[in-house]
Amino acid sequence: NPDSSTQRLPWTTRVRPETLSRLETLITLADETDRERLPVVAPFTGEELATVPAGTAADVEAAVDRARTAQSAWAEQSIRDRAAVLRRFRELVLDREAFLCDLIGLEGGKPRYHCFSEIYVLAEIARYYARHGEDVLGEVRRAGPIPGVTAVRVRHRPVGVVGIIGPWNVPFDLTVGDALPALLAGNAVVVKPAEQTPFSALAGAELLYEAGLPRDAFHVVTGTGEEAGAAIVDTVDFVSFTGSTGTARQIGERASRRGIGYSLELGGKNPMVVLADVDLDATLERMVQGCFGNSGQVCMAPERIYIEAAIYDEFLARFTERIERLTLGASFDYDVEVGSLISEAHLAKVAAHVDDAVAKGATALTGGQARPDVGPMVYEPTVLVDVTEDMTLYTEETFGPVVAVYRAENAEEAIERANETPYGLNASVWTSDRRRGASVARRLDAGMVAINDAYAVGYAAPAAPMGGTKGSGTGRRHGPEGLLKYTVPQTIARNRGMTFV
Ligand code: NAD
Repeated sequence: NPDSSTQRLPWTTRVRPETLSRLETLITLADETDRERLPVVAPFTGEELATVPAGTAADVEAAVDRARTAQSAWAEQSIRDRAAVLRRFRELVLDREAFLCDLIGLEGGKPRYHCFSEIYVLAEIARYYARHGEDVLGEVRRAGPIPGVTAVRVRHRPVGVVGIIGPWNVPFDLTVGDALPALLAGNAVVVKPAEQTPFSALAGAELLYEAGLPRDAFHVVTGTGEEAGAAIVDTVDFVSFTGSTGTARQIGERASRRGIGYSLELGGKNPMVVLADVDLDATLERMVQGCFGNSGQVCMAPERIYIEAAIYDEFLARFTERIERLTLGASFDYDVEVGSLISEAHLAKVAAHVDDAVAKGATALTGGQARPDVGPMVYEPTVLVDVTEDMTLYTEETFGPVVAVYRAENAEEAIERANETPYGLNASVWTSDRRRGASVARRLDAGMVAINDAYAVGYAAPAAPMGGTKGSGTGRRHGPEGLLKYTVPQTIARNRGMTFV
């Protein structure tokens, strides 16, 4: 709608209240009894968009029961038929991209380009698994324990019901996208989306059903982590969790007690190592967008930058100059580069990290303030220097538009300090020397390393495994690894007629 009043109110453009009510009917509840309601807030404006039911443990159990019943029939379909559902789903996602983009932006407070990237990444995940899933899962012959005597075949069975507990920062890909390989492998899925962003997962559910997925093979139960999230871990056969390290510890312990498998995709304190031979003309923009895109609320976003001394001053001058020109905004506008934080609570955490650092002697070269004049949950892109070990953000993930810049005497020191962290999700090295880049990348202790880019290919390339080391989690999404984790290998060995004693 070109009318300027509706431009200011994205609420009234494509995502209408009745759309959210329609999506809400897809939430699985055990019965008709009224539940408590959780508010969903639009970070752009701070207004309440809608409320969703706080699903109970009984709701999760009901969803898992129904999923369990549906799973065997779904698994009996051929993998080609399941891949066809993924293909149709991909077409529907691309067809509805404008609506999905509005929905993701509305509940997530994200600039439009970031919403689009979720949609295209999801489409690529669907395409990748539809095309390559059969090669990964197909039954294969292996050499027998005694070649020629025993015939051995290996197949991959679905684990059963997969529970997906998702975060708010990439709410479509990291719930529905993670479900695609699980479904392709013949599992049923129950999703517990983050409290802040339930509608992206519900929109995905609607499109999956439209693509031909049996209704009970996929459920969404909204609710709190403490109740619905914990109930997922207590009932499913495998948990795929994306979120914070603190929550992951509880989930890992709970899942281990039940003896079920799990993958944990957690946070990072991602280092950038910038070598003196870097081509700043070519790479500065990628550095800035990587640090501040989605207001730094990206698990792979750099938060620590180590600069070789020879270019330290030049780097800082150019980096901060570009940051000061970033377009802030709390709207759907295409030209917004840095959007909103997700909530007032998260804004308070980001501000507390910066205030603590400044109080203990750090300097903000740019930024350092909330920007209520732009939006109720907007925080300025911030560059800190003189950050020391006693400051909270030295080691803890801020998950906001804040980076700490450190001077390193040489590459050795930069690598050593980059590895001094309890996390190991994503790291990057910036250099014009290809061989040096590759050799530094191999020495960085992270599950993913990018050369001359902020994010490793993991997020954008569904063929490459994405995940971390150390405190950043265990298990991988994407690639064959992200499919095989949802399966149990079965070895079938046939004796060809010889008895051994
Ligand atoms: P969070 O841990 O607070 O919540 C994540 C999910 O867990 C939510 O759905 C929440 O309801 C649920 N939950 C909370 N307590 C629970 C419990 N006791 N039992 C079961 N479920 C529970 O994390 P968040 O703030 O939503 O997400 C941000 C974090 O996610 C950041 O640390 C970020 O780095 C990380 N992240 C990691 C990746 C990755 O791929 N590695 C991707 C995106 C985000």
